[in-house]
Amino acid sequence: MKSPMNEEILQDLWRVAQRPWKSGVLPSSEDLARARASIPSTLPNTGASLESVQRHVLDDIVPAFNGGSISPNYYGFITGGVTPAALFADNVVSAYDQNVQVHLPNHSIVTDVEFHVLGLLADLLRLDRSTWQNGTFTTGATASNILGLACGREFALRKAARRKGSSVTSVGENGLYEVLQDAGLSGVQVLSTMPHSSLVKAAGVLGIGRANVLNVCSADNVLQFDMEKLEKNLARTDKASIVAISCGEVNTGRFATSGMEQLQIIRQLCDKYEAWIHVDGAFGVFGRILDNNPEFATIKKGSEGIHLADSITGDGHKLLNVPYDCGFFFCRHPELAVNVFQNANAAYLTAGASDGPSIPSPLNIGIENSRRFRALPVYASLLSYGRDGYMDMLQRQIRLARTIYDWIFDCAEFIALPEVISKTDLLDQTFMTVLFRAKDDRLNCDLAKKINETSRMFVSGTSWQGAPACRIAISNWRVNVERDAALVIDVLTQVARQWLLSTCDIPIR
Ligand SMILES: *Cc1c(COP(=O)(O)O)cnc(C)c1O
Repeated sequence: MKSPMNEEILQDLWRVAQRPWKSGVLPSSEDLARARASIPSTLPNTGASLESVQRHVLDDIVPAFNGGSISPNYYGFITGGVTPAALFADNVVSAYDQNVQVHLPNHSIVTDVEFHVLGLLADLLRLDRSTWQNGTFTTGATASNILGLACGREFALRKAARRKGSSVTSVGENGLYEVLQDAGLSGVQVLSTMPHSSLVKAAGVLGIGRANVLNVCSADNVLQFDMEKLEKNLARTDKASIVAISCGEVNTGRFATSGMEQLQIIRQLCDKYEAWIHVDGAFGVFGRILDNNPEFATIKKGSEGIHLADSITGDGHKLLNVPYDCGFFFCRHPELAVNVFQNANAAYLTAGASDGPSIPSPLNIGIENSRRFRALPVYASLLSYGRDGYMDMLQRQIRLARTIYDWIFDCAEFIALPEVISKTDLLDQTFMTVLFRAKDDRLNCDLAKKINETSRMFVSGTSWQGAPACRIAISNWRVNVERDAALVIDVLTQVARQWLLSTCDIPIR
């Protein structure tokens, strides 16, 4: 059997990527059923030809995909899309299958590229390279949150153990149990406001415990810190602490802090009590792309000051619009990260000498040894759009969210969430998500389902303050404000009208 060169497959991939997407954001039930029935129930002994495998994948499996990344009207989760440059580069990554693990400057350029892309990303996010060009690419914000809490755990426990005069100080070296026991500590706590579920998961994975993630929010605003409560918890002598800032809460898109001043207060408190600050900025960190346009001043303030943190999570496969999976992690303390993640001296994995900047081996600053070249699609997309291109993309996303909220606020059938009196305030604080529910409870309990059944757009069903709600998350590079606002408003109008007709006793003529 003749095997085609990877270069030929690369050309095929590029052709596949350019096939027009069928309409609709969800697959039909027939397509799903056909795809399920096409999967063999056991491994065949004899392999099929490449052509027939390609045909099977394209004709049977692909039609049962959703339009999550491809349709501009898929507003579920926060999926982002894939820019043409990123798509191209991702195919190159597959075709050439580089392993970005050890910095071997004479063997491949890949570790250099990854390191420099971290610098470009820092530029995009207006983070000073001299402190922030440290970190790594991950599988997503969940992985980055695990890295952030792992570094925070190491830092805070080292400090706490030293304060207690203990000589066993490193979790990486001695393990969590011995450090805690020797220092007479009962554990590590994570202090946050409405953290993303993945941050709680990270606490579970790291032996901190989900129950030790505490909300220290103020009574009148569940998203923001109550500084007194925060200090009271930081002052506990039986716990080491990490403060986790929700830079973009996933339902509302709003921020846990609103400017430099709050970050300075949190920084001072954390310095005083030797706690670590981790920012979960999966999507919120991109607020830093914006310039000084007053239209977006509130959003810009939400991500202001996070350069005072110790570590920052960001997602590539969301607002950066590169393919799954891609996240990034910045850490201001490279030596500490190496302490946590060092790959205990396998001699064959040591890096070669280099004349250029000292580029760390990625295997010592993250979870994996062997790794995909995730930085290349980021590189290609950043070069292709530049700061202005990414700012334009984000502005369109924000304007679409605000146009939709504007309509919902005045609409008889729907309620904009969080409930506020002033439309100006609501629009001012809107980033790229729209949270809402139907006024009638009976419609509301099925609202997401009814919207998604139209297959013209897709929203996430969620819950807000104990009742069902819908969330529109706008993250695709293809956003067109007029076109997409008209579609969303039309779908919501139709769903509300159908509902009114179905509850009406009088026959409609
Ligand atoms: C999406 C999201 C995550 C999880 O990201 P993954 O990329 O799915 O792992 C974490 N935090 C926030 C705020 C998010 O929006």
